[in-house]
Amino acid sequence: MEKEFWNEEIDTGKVPENKSKFDVIVVGGGPVGSAAATYSAMQGDKVLLLEKSSYPRDKTCGDAVGGKSLKHVEALGVKTALENSPHYRITGVLFTAPNGKSLNVERPVVDGEQELAGYVLPRAQFDWLMFNRATEVILQNGGAVVQDFNVKEIIYDDGRDGKDPGPNSGDKRRIVGIRGKTKEEDMEYSASLTIGAGGVRCPVATSIVEETYQKTMVDSKKEHYSAAYRQYWKGVKGLNHKEGMIEFHYIKGVIPGYFWIFPLSEDTANVGFGIVLNELSKHEKKLKGLQDYIINEKMPERFKDAELVEGSSKGWQLPLGSPRKGEEMQPRRLFANGAMVVGDAGSLVDPFSGEGIANGFLSAKMAIDYFDRERHNDGFPLEEGMKYQKELWDTLGPELTNSYRIQRLMSWPFSKGWLINMIINKARKKPELQRVLSDCLVSPEAQKQITDYRFLARQLLF
Ligand SMILES: Cc1cc2nc3c(=O)[nH]c(=O)nc-3n(C[C@H](O)[C@H](O)[C@H](O)COP(=O)(O)OP(=O)(O)OC[C@H]3O[C@@H](n4cnc5c(N)ncnc54)[C@H](O)[C@@H]3O)c2cc1C
Repeated sequence: MEKEFWNEEIDTGKVPENKSKFDVIVVGGGPVGSAAATYSAMQGDKVLLLEKSSYPRDKTCGDAVGGKSLKHVEALGVKTALENSPHYRITGVLFTAPNGKSLNVERPVVDGEQELAGYVLPRAQFDWLMFNRATEVILQNGGAVVQDFNVKEIIYDDGRDGKDPGPNSGDKRRIVGIRGKTKEEDMEYSASLTIGAGGVRCPVATSIVEETYQKTMVDSKKEHYSAAYRQYWKGVKGLNHKEGMIEFHYIKGVIPGYFWIFPLSEDTANVGFGIVLNELSKHEKKLKGLQDYIINEKMPERFKDAELVEGSSKGWQLPLGSPRKGEEMQPRRLFANGAMVVGDAGSLVDPFSGEGIANGFLSAKMAIDYFDRERHNDGFPLEEGMKYQKELWDTLGPELTNSYRIQRLMSWPFSKGWLINMIINKARKKPELQRVLSDCLVSPEAQKQITDYRFLARQLLF
């Protein structure tokens, strides 16, 4: 494949006529929207994929496509193109504890090659591959893709729009389409199913999810959102090339936040810092200040000769999949009559690791599996959406809840990082714990096990 293809435009063809009808409208062409659109078109649906920006485009991220995403990357037909383009092969993770001790968690070597635990590649490149593939499959199946399309309103079957929603408004009336704008004109499209995949401020989610109605975050919700900062650096010391570890550093004074260094290419690494919003507000420094502090005060040797890539410093929010206390639907509402939300729009990021793409892919696949274009021609029913919500939470709930517990344990003011010190100390000595940690890099089951406090307690105490 051509080098730096991800800096090229993607030709998505003609804008469909105003008031066209589709089986499925997908709002947002990030990786999860592209995945949902591709899965849907692969089952023969006529899909409309709408993206606010236009490719090439960047997304602020750590750029790690973790082990749990791999089966989707393959099933969606993106694996070969990805592997033929520049990428870093993750084979393990290096953790450092607040007490300075470190632990390498590596995938086993099978037939002379170390197993894959994921890839690191710039999101500009990964998202381009995903969107390009979605465009290909959608156009083959009679659908359409529009870039530079800003979805502004959700249309309900009672004629009112979704700008002023009431709690559970999606129960009684049905979402039948969207209104939005290309660069030139206002447009309206309808579909049996509308998928919200517009990320943190997805218009479908803001129309049906009460938690997102306010423009500013209410304090009680801050524990369910992280903020993270990303930079690209050239020449960071001590990195592998092409394949090897990615690094997570838990640093005294900024726990439960963590600092990451993910190598991308021979000389460039993605370097960042993430922390839960309610913990961030306890610091005088903001994200950039904390990142500068870690680089300059805690890692001066590694960054001594490194150079910051101009224009790469950006912060963004991560909507976490932590359970909301007292809420009936966990982690929060994921459906309405005629609609489902997926990925960041559904608040599915792992509260401990900050990984969002894999859970997003799973939600995209599951949501599309509930849609049947013939049976649901008159509109995707509420009951099917409810089933999607239940199956997704049954699958991800235990792991997300445990990840949240660990993140909270690490936040206790008196803990000062003892938990992470203890885990790393023990794991350095215990092969069983090392094996489970290694499996965690690729397996949801192992992740469930490691975040189970009974398992952890057994490992730590005995
Ligand atoms: C700093 C940082 C580091 C992270 N590191 C990692 C990591 O290493 N690995 C990992 O797995 N996850 C990571 N995450 C989380 C990850 O970035 C998200 O979980 C992931 O991007 C979710 O994908 P998505 O497609 O749901 O949403 P997004 O990637 O946010 O895509 C949403 C898309 O919808 C479009 N859109 C928005 N509004 C509209 C509208 N009104 N009309 C039309 N289109 C619209 C946007 O333009 C965008 O293209 C990180 C997040 C941050 C902030």
